[in-house]
Amino acid sequence: MQLDVPSLMLPLGLGYLLFAWQLVLVRRRLVDDRALALWTKGCVFLLAGMSALLSRLFLPEWLAVLVGNPLVLCGMLYFNQAVYLFVGKGPVPAWLTGLVVAGVLATPVLLAWPMSTRSMIFSAVLMLMAGLPALHVFRHAWHAESTMRAVALTMLMLSLAHALRAVQAGLVPDQYTTFFQSSLGQGIVVLLAFLALLGSGVGFVMASLERTAKSMEFLASHDALTGCLNRRSFDPLCDHEVARSQRGAQPLALLLLDLDHFKRVNDLHGHRCGDLVLQAFSKRVQARLRSADVFARLGGEEFAVLLPNTDLAGALNVAHHLCHEVAANPVQLPDDKVFALTVSLGLAMFAPGGRDATPLKQRHRASAAPVLSPELLYMRADQALYEAKREGRNRVVVWREEQEATAPEGVAVLA
Ligand code: GH3
Ligand code: MG
Ligand code: MG
Repeated sequence: MQLDVPSLMLPLGLGYLLFAWQLVLVRRRLVDDRALALWTKGCVFLLAGMSALLSRLFLPEWLAVLVGNPLVLCGMLYFNQAVYLFVGKGPVPAWLTGLVVAGVLATPVLLAWPMSTRSMIFSAVLMLMAGLPALHVFRHAWHAESTMRAVALTMLMLSLAHALRAVQAGLVPDQYTTFFQSSLGQGIVVLLAFLALLGSGVGFVMASLERTAKSMEFLASHDALTGCLNRRSFDPLCDHEVARSQRGAQPLALLLLDLDHFKRVNDLHGHRCGDLVLQAFSKRVQARLRSADVFARLGGEEFAVLLPNTDLAGALNVAHHLCHEVAANPVQLPDDKVFALTVSLGLAMFAPGGRDATPLKQRHRASAAPVLSPELLYMRADQALYEAKREGRNRVVVWREEQEATAPEGVAVLA
């Protein structure tokens, strides 16, 4: 059985050209991504190199090789640079760049050698250049974007295809007397190589888009200054935790935190220092919480903490610890000044077995009193916070029923 190499190269090459063209368009209009830009360059160089190598049908062979080989090597170097940049564990090793330079300089010398020897050497170099990024992903990015696995596996396939070609050219040189010589081995190698190039290209685009989507998701759900959750993601989480606590009859605590006299930081030291204080504060709070706790910046200098499965004693413990920790450790400002910071906290509880925990159906039968909603829990914590401010700040206040007597208009009062 034989596979006709030129017949294989034409559709596969056109397919790759189509892919590269789309990649160039996407790169220009959509994604600002340096790694993807390098991959696109790699595609363009590789296509130009392959076209130059094929041009021996019309041009002298020495010209085709002299132009084609360096372009293919540069294309592969760009692929390596793209993968290394994407993985983010340092640049490509200097010896690889050296190998490409040596390959380019050695091309005129290689022209004097038989086609089979040239094929063997060139394929061995390409085997190395395709295998290196695959190994890099296996070592450092196997658990990063899932589509990088496809890139690693297809680059490995490309490497193996070239290993096969190098071995074959060494063992059966008479099958490698011309570039287009048709044989089963040459055909399989060409097929594998093009499929691997296409597969790794698509995989790399998907991985780049996956990373962009992840970072956009993070930006939409997190506060840009402190890195903690923002209000948009806190509200649904709060709804979810309240529903879960009611269903499972588990206690839930909501803490609202508001920095005291924070305006003074800005007034005395400027907004930049105010921002640094907010960052230092949220780091401190985050360090004290468990992974199941939810910590969010609701806006300005106001934060919220949800403590699932936490009873009143546990929640008070956390709240007092935070209050003391903030007061006892003034924030160090960049100009070596220190800023004594305090925080006020309002705490509201959902306690199973309490009145709020009565199932909704039963409650409707017994009375018209509302079941505890996330809004009500939030309003209670807010009332407690207001009380903490009123009582002199730098303290924790737990919501009590009496506070509802003085509740602002619109706050539901339980019967
Ligand atoms: P209180 O003890 O009553 O809470 O007083 P306060 O000064 O903390 O509260 P107030 O609401 O009067 O002022 C809040 C200040 O927080 C005003 C605003 O400039 C500042 N602020 C809000 N968001 C940011 C921010 O992202 N960065 C900085 N630097 N300041 C902020
Ligand atoms: Mg404040
Ligand atoms: Mg405030």
